[in-house]
Amino acid sequence: MLKKYDYLVVGAGFSGATIAERLASKGKKVLVIDQRNHVGGNCHDRIDRIGYVQEYGPHIFHTSDKEVWDYISQFTSWHPYRHKVLADINGKLVPLPFNLNSIKICFDDLQYKNYKDLLIKKYGLNKRISVFELMHDKNKDVRKLGDFIYSNIFFNYTKKQWDIDPEKMERSVLDRVPVVVNDIDAYFNDEYQGIPEQGYSKIIEKMLKDCDVHLETDFFGCRDVVSYDFLIFTGRIDSFFGFSEGEILYRNIEFRFDTQKNPFQKNSVINYPSLHYPYTRITEFNKFLNIKSTESVIAKEYPSWEKGFVAYPVQTRENLELIGMYRKKADKLKNIFFAGRLAEGRYLDMDKAIRSSLDLFEKLG
Ligand SMILES: Cc1cc2nc3c(=O)[nH]c(=O)nc-3n(C[C@H](O)[C@H](O)[C@H](O)COP(=O)(O)OP(=O)(O)OC[C@H]3O[C@@H](n4cnc5c(N)ncnc54)[C@H](O)[C@@H]3O)c2cc1C
Repeated sequence: MLKKYDYLVVGAGFSGATIAERLASKGKKVLVIDQRNHVGGNCHDRIDRIGYVQEYGPHIFHTSDKEVWDYISQFTSWHPYRHKVLADINGKLVPLPFNLNSIKICFDDLQYKNYKDLLIKKYGLNKRISVFELMHDKNKDVRKLGDFIYSNIFFNYTKKQWDIDPEKMERSVLDRVPVVVNDIDAYFNDEYQGIPEQGYSKIIEKMLKDCDVHLETDFFGCRDVVSYDFLIFTGRIDSFFGFSEGEILYRNIEFRFDTQKNPFQKNSVINYPSLHYPYTRITEFNKFLNIKSTESVIAKEYPSWEKGFVAYPVQTRENLELIGMYRKKADKLKNIFFAGRLAEGRYLDMDKAIRSSLDLFEKLG
């Protein structure tokens, strides 16, 4: 006779694993399925002879949510890692977000001093200003600096990443490109940051230890043969409804991996905003865990419409409305719950995906 489950959880990424772990900890019978041949979703990784590899691109855990940090830290110890990003601008490697060190690298001493004094006087030390604000400053030198950052970093990167004319992007996007008035090279400001010492997939394996897990199992192929009371779906919300309202538009990412001599580059992640390079960034994964093997796996990242995997929902009005329509349909269903980046139709960092599933667990009572 078929085993009967309290919950079927579709997807073994952080969203599915968190809700499954919480439910199993309360004695619920939980089946987790994933169409892929591994757990971890897009955070899947491995440590092998050559070192560390993240199969779906660079993932750095960072959060200011202490509850999420404490929750996930039950399943791992952390390699202390503070993320820094460098960008190649005309052959020079400069810290991102653009800060006083970046200005020092890009300009001569006189210009550097001038920009530094102007920014500190106008905005104050440690302030984060948007590039849009700089481009519209009263002072012409500050405007010039804003234009430099816009054209050398934002413009081409955006064109490659989204394949749209950056001039047509919402102002809110420009507002989110910060310039920082200090010399601290830090990509995230969150209090808690790190890379799990054994990787993300090991965390998820531990989280799922009290659940039944079936890999290479597509929900649409098994939904009628599995017996369960409640469904938690973390796949694409449009696929769940058979694309009845149309297909949500995603920008894909394709990673091309290569093995190189260690060390390959100066930093774990180097961005390439220039259109001269077809990729947006290169990651050398061993640097995340400070692994000193003779070789190192690197990945070049190519945004695409067809290749790779769905990564970011496109932020156009039509697309956001379509996502909203599916979410309304989802809200009407009984005993079926949607969680995670694909089911909610929005980009979620790992901590936000975990938070969302912890909140869903509370809601389920
Ligand atoms: C390039 C990139 C870099 C990122 N970097 C960071 C970072 O540095 N820090 C950070 O915090 N976050 C980062 N993220 C975000 C992070 O990947 C997500 O927060 C996380 O993957 C969300 O987990 P999830 O479980 O919601 O989705 P996923 O990890 O996508 O898991 C969903 C799972 O559902 C399965 N599934 C879907 N449909 C079906 C079906 N029909 N049947 C069976 N299984 C199905 C899929 O196979 C998948 O395994 C990054 C994302 C991208 C794209």
